[in-house]
Amino acid sequence: MSGVVIVGAGLTGLSAAYHLAAVGVLTRLVEALKVPGGACRTIEKDGFSFDLTGHLLHLRLAESRTLLQRLGVWESLRRQRRRAGIALGGRVTPYPLQIHTHRLPPEVRRDCVLGFVRAAMSPQAQGEEEGSFAAWVLSRFGEGFARHFFFPYNEKLYCTPAAELTTEWVGRYVPRPRLEEVIDGAFGLHRGAVGYNATFYYPRRGGIRLLADALAARVPQLELSAPVTGVDLARRRLTLAAGQTLEWDTLVWTAPLTSLTSLAADLPGELAAAAGALRAVAVLNLNLGVKGSPPRREHWLYIPEPQYPFYRVGFPSNHGEVAPTGCHTVSVEMSVPAGAPAPPGFEELCLAGLESLGLLRRRQDVVLTAMARLDPAYVVFDRPRTRAVATLRSGLRRYGVLLAGRWAEWKYSTMEDALWDGAAVARRLSP
Ligand SMILES: Cc1cc2nc3c(=O)[nH]c(=O)nc-3n(C[C@H](O)[C@H](O)[C@H](O)COP(=O)(O)OP(=O)(O)OC[C@H]3O[C@@H](n4cnc5c(N)ncnc54)[C@H](O)[C@@H]3O)c2cc1C
Repeated sequence: MSGVVIVGAGLTGLSAAYHLAAVGVLTRLVEALKVPGGACRTIEKDGFSFDLTGHLLHLRLAESRTLLQRLGVWESLRRQRRRAGIALGGRVTPYPLQIHTHRLPPEVRRDCVLGFVRAAMSPQAQGEEEGSFAAWVLSRFGEGFARHFFFPYNEKLYCTPAAELTTEWVGRYVPRPRLEEVIDGAFGLHRGAVGYNATFYYPRRGGIRLLADALAARVPQLELSAPVTGVDLARRRLTLAAGQTLEWDTLVWTAPLTSLTSLAADLPGELAAAAGALRAVAVLNLNLGVKGSPPRREHWLYIPEPQYPFYRVGFPSNHGEVAPTGCHTVSVEMSVPAGAPAPPGFEELCLAGLESLGLLRRRQDVVLTAMARLDPAYVVFDRPRTRAVATLRSGLRRYGVLLAGRWAEWKYSTMEDALWDGAAVARRLSP
């Protein structure tokens, strides 16, 4: 029997199945893992709940609240004001750095402010065509912010030189203050919240899996532990690990695009070439359960300096009840190119880095560790990406394949976006 087959029970696939069921379209939803949720799942261990790195809900759309109410999770969420910082030059200053240089060492502050003023005064700053993320940063923020934060942070996160990155992803994610705000920030005078993540929602208790679990409970025909191991595009047929085959009229693919292209034995050469151009990084996530109170009150810290292997450290127990009484949690994130192994001694590197930053008081307080890997985690926005994704999207469409979600569409997006990506699939396939 053919019909709509959805691959992947992360938020996008779950939302697609949920919204399709609401308009009477029955689907088969197959998921490789034994639990739903994809990147939005939570590891439970000895009373600790560890998300796969910080997963906080940033809601832009009023409809999202209605959807969360319908799913019965709204009442379990708590709205919080971001407490985020940047560890730089032996100090921690609030995020975003652009309006909080006052806590930095004076010479770093001077570099940042002077660079910003010079960039603002440059005729090039107005409406110029930027070739790369590096050029965009230099023209918008100047040399000091670039050198102390934007370049080292993003190069660490994307494992890619800033000159090779494009600006397609910066949109709502990089706050762009006015000169007055930067000057205020240098004197500690800037007040008020800035950026897409100035506030967020998070479950009062337990982890972010609450969201995926609520959807999964309302989705008919969810098949867990059912990894797709082969795709025959011409016959519109996929094979599951157990040997079962499924045929589709429409295949909604929400797993990574690169896994589809490597599973499709009959992928045309043009599409294989496009797939070869896609780059991403994986995130290695070391989670710690630690005795005692947290060393800081921030929800997370950005770590741009190259001497530390990780780019971000979170303290999830500062925003949710995710640890037993008398303990806290720490989440460390480090990028490597997609598919690459963790560096030798990864855990030791992380612990040493945390100690040197004052984020772990005593090793013997660590009562538990849990490792997770997100691969791919961040797609690399480089010049070949846009054309490669467009080629793949239209080429796969000829075989009845719809790409939906962060990694299927090879983009940067949030959990809220995933919920609406799934709903958009349902709108498209509604009878
Ligand atoms: C480090 C990091 C931090 C993030 N933080 C936030 C945040 O704070 N806030 C926020 O809103 N968003 C955050 N996100 C983004 C968020 O995780 C995603 O937007 C969202 O989870 C995407 O859901 P998805 O369903 O599209 O993909 P996924 O969750 O990846 O779902 C795809 C599913 O496909 C399954 N699958 C893969 N291969 C196969 C196969 N062969 N057969 C069957 N099934 C398969 C996978 O197991 C998975 O369950 C973060 C992402 C990362 C990487």
